[in-house]
Amino acid sequence: MTDRLVLVINCGSSSLKFALRSESEQKPLLSGLAERLGTADGVMNWKAGDIREHVAITDGKHSTAMASLLPLIERFAHRPLTAVGHRVVHGGEHFTGASLIDDEVLAAIEDSAPLAPLHNPAQLTGISEARQVFTDIPHIAIFDTAFHQSMPPHAYRYALPEALYSQHGVRRYGFHGTSHRFVSTQASLLMGLEPGHGAWLTAHLGNGCSTCAVLDGKSLDTSMGMTPLEGLVMGTRSGDVDPNLHSHLARTLGWDLERIDNMLNRESGLLGLSEGLSNDMRTLVAARAEGHAGASLAVEVFCYRLARSLAGLAVALPRIDGVIFTGGIGENSPLVRELTVRHLALFGLAIDPAANATPPGNPARQIQAGNSPAILVIPTDEERQITEECLALLDLAATQPVEQEA
Ligand code: AMP
Repeated sequence: MTDRLVLVINCGSSSLKFALRSESEQKPLLSGLAERLGTADGVMNWKAGDIREHVAITDGKHSTAMASLLPLIERFAHRPLTAVGHRVVHGGEHFTGASLIDDEVLAAIEDSAPLAPLHNPAQLTGISEARQVFTDIPHIAIFDTAFHQSMPPHAYRYALPEALYSQHGVRRYGFHGTSHRFVSTQASLLMGLEPGHGAWLTAHLGNGCSTCAVLDGKSLDTSMGMTPLEGLVMGTRSGDVDPNLHSHLARTLGWDLERIDNMLNRESGLLGLSEGLSNDMRTLVAARAEGHAGASLAVEVFCYRLARSLAGLAVALPRIDGVIFTGGIGENSPLVRELTVRHLALFGLAIDPAANATPPGNPARQIQAGNSPAILVIPTDEERQITEECLALLDLAATQPVEQEA
């Protein structure tokens, strides 16, 4: 069988991220990011092996950025694409896995748009542009929420009037599903368990952060909720706050919903706690070492709340085969891992300091001490997961009998 190729696309309102992945190779053949779309300064930076170049997207159109992918793919792929995989943030309750895009799937993505107003409309644009450029091959949607559709009602329901759930979809959905699925699958390989098996607590810590309890390849609970604001402290997002905060700020300061929304999503988290110093964990770790009180507090709150979330999610599992750290912070910050695990001594978890120090290349590894349950650092690779899910869907479709017309 030929080494199949998938183009992975993640379309934002002003950006288009892409990666060309082959079935057999660990690294992308080509990857890049078009930014500042919607302005006259649109630009697409890309790299393939050692080659790095950029293309101006002067009309700022998503369609122009998408069309400029075609010659690049011809140059580096040397064979036809098998499929295009589209990352879509919100699939509501419609999707439990990868889905071949057709009119029904497009309508369902649109139906979920009120739950992700910043993401789903942009991703629909990306799908439509891509279908015009890459014709005659399957386009497949992969949803951040799909992995968490296995959560039981006691984990996904809010204690709110029932009609808000049944008529308006108000429930916990969870996000970062592609990453939680990828690292928990890798963990079973790393620990020599049956593929896809094991009871894991995963922590995806990047600009957005979430935890997940995974049992034998199924998400049983996760820290994010109806939107990606719930749960952990993040770069600029508050995570959990008292739900009465909204009415308190409206009554006492006269803030309107937009202002509160903006504050919770863009001015809070590490940025807010560090007195506006930074949303970047690297800057905060360096400032903490120099005695910056705000940076110190931000790091402490981040790690404590993360540990509290992991401890809470443990109740979803029958045992703990391992705790997994991933994402930019999870993979690269020994300090965050150390401070977090210190709060989890109750579970017998302890870190080996030498193993915790970040080696060059940051490969997947175990960092627990002595008799501690496994603590794993596993670099995430969402594009690889998307590629694998696309190809698995095509393989499944190829083995299913064609439906006979009545
Ligand atoms: P991601 O969204 O997964 O790319 O993660 C981005 C975040 O990773 C940034 O906000 C940084 O705070 C964090 N990060 C990257 N490298 C390091 C590092 N060496 N130490 C601490 N945090 C890091």
